[in-house]
Amino acid sequence: MKIIILGSGIIGTTTAWYLNQDGHEVTVIDRQPGAAQETSFANGGQISVSYSEPWASPAGLKKMLQWLGREDAPLLFRLRPEWRQWLWGLAFLRESLPHRVRRNIRAMVALSTYSRATLQALRAETGIEYDQLQRGILTFQSNAADLRQAQRAAALMRDYGVDRRMLSREEIFALEPALAHTRSPIVGGDYTADDESGDVYKFTTALAARAAQRGVQFHFNTQITRLLETANRSWGRRTIAGVEVIAADGSYDTLRADAYVVALGSYSPLLLHPLGVPCLVYPAKGYSATYAIVDAEKAPTISLTDSAHKIVITRLGNRLRVAGTAEFNGYSRALNPVRCAALNRRTEELFGDAVDHSQAHYWSGLRPATPSNVPLIGPTRFSNLYLNTGHGTLGWTMGCGSGKALADLLQGKEAEVEFPFLGRKKN
Ligand SMILES: Cc1cc2nc3c(=O)[nH]c(=O)nc-3n(C[C@H](O)[C@H](O)[C@H](O)COP(=O)(O)OP(=O)(O)OC[C@H]3O[C@@H](n4cnc5c(N)ncnc54)[C@H](O)[C@@H]3O)c2cc1C
Repeated sequence: MKIIILGSGIIGTTTAWYLNQDGHEVTVIDRQPGAAQETSFANGGQISVSYSEPWASPAGLKKMLQWLGREDAPLLFRLRPEWRQWLWGLAFLRESLPHRVRRNIRAMVALSTYSRATLQALRAETGIEYDQLQRGILTFQSNAADLRQAQRAAALMRDYGVDRRMLSREEIFALEPALAHTRSPIVGGDYTADDESGDVYKFTTALAARAAQRGVQFHFNTQITRLLETANRSWGRRTIAGVEVIAADGSYDTLRADAYVVALGSYSPLLLHPLGVPCLVYPAKGYSATYAIVDAEKAPTISLTDSAHKIVITRLGNRLRVAGTAEFNGYSRALNPVRCAALNRRTEELFGDAVDHSQAHYWSGLRPATPSNVPLIGPTRFSNLYLNTGHGTLGWTMGCGSGKALADLLQGKEAEVEFPFLGRKKN
């Protein structure tokens, strides 16, 4: 079958890889000059099954209310005169109901766990190097209230089969000595040994290069403007006839295939809404700062989550990546100096002169967030149109598993993971 994948972030690229493995003729289209240039460029680097927790929950709502009006708040909802944002906000409130939270966690844990194993298998098969570390993920708390909340969250995760165990302050320092010198209080934390970390950009570009060697065609610098519906649809299911694009040389073109997969991250709804395909994905802007490490002994090697500041800290070879914050404020990727300064201040508090603060590379990306944090994967009402989008905070964690699952579904096979794929009855 001839298949066109729209988007070459981590999701589009893994999908292309697995469909090519299944023997399909695959073409990938992206407006950027290469793979992983947008949200899959400089994220937090965590493969974190342990963080398969939705933002929408009673505890999450409470925190958001406390942070209202704070410019440097870890999670900020700026109300805009935009119906899509309001709809998203209302759905977010609904997803905070306890029974929905439980269902969402179950789905997220299942896909993340499957995806981590799929990544490990792919790594073994291809030998791709991406500054990966298999040293687990350690979350630390700075006050007693956060620690109590973490104890509840860890117990909940254990109920879902995630081995997230609590650690004392002393155990934390023994496991990650770089934290012992911090100027900030640490009262305890939790650790998930099976989790991993690595550079999503290095991984995705390496996978795209291998896919190209195996025959996947990449059309970069190509702007997708529209999905075209088949003109004559007097009977049967609706179908997609082609993708209208502006090619690299500025010419208009229509690319055609037997099936189409939308993996456009935060931009997915912009092409789907005109067709009436539901896709409640809204951009949640996040920041990262990447530093050169100047004192390797003082920089952490275990990937960390700083619970109070809602940031993650990941060692990527001789670089330290610090990432976090979420701002619901449309599609702007402008860097807010207050947020950059907050990341820098916290890095300094935690690791002092372990990194070169004068040369920080700041970046922002738009997480494709669904109200439930559960991605949209599977078929649509168009017989040849599939979605693989809405991976929010966990696109790197869920990337390989989502690509493999979509490839299986497109083949008409059962996916290897229990998950509420599109077109399935929700339980
Ligand atoms: C600050 C931050 C930290 C994060 N940390 C982590 C983490 O530690 N672990 C984790 O698992 N996840 C993390 N994430 C989330 C993760 O990065 C995303 O979920 C993931 O990158 C989304 O991948 P994607 O392929 O869906 O989207 P993208 O990577 O954005 O890919 C979509 C592609 O579509 C292309 N495109 C869009 N519109 C068009 C168009 N009209 N025409 C042509 N091309 C188009 C874009 O160029 C892009 O390449 C983080 C995100 C942020 C912002």
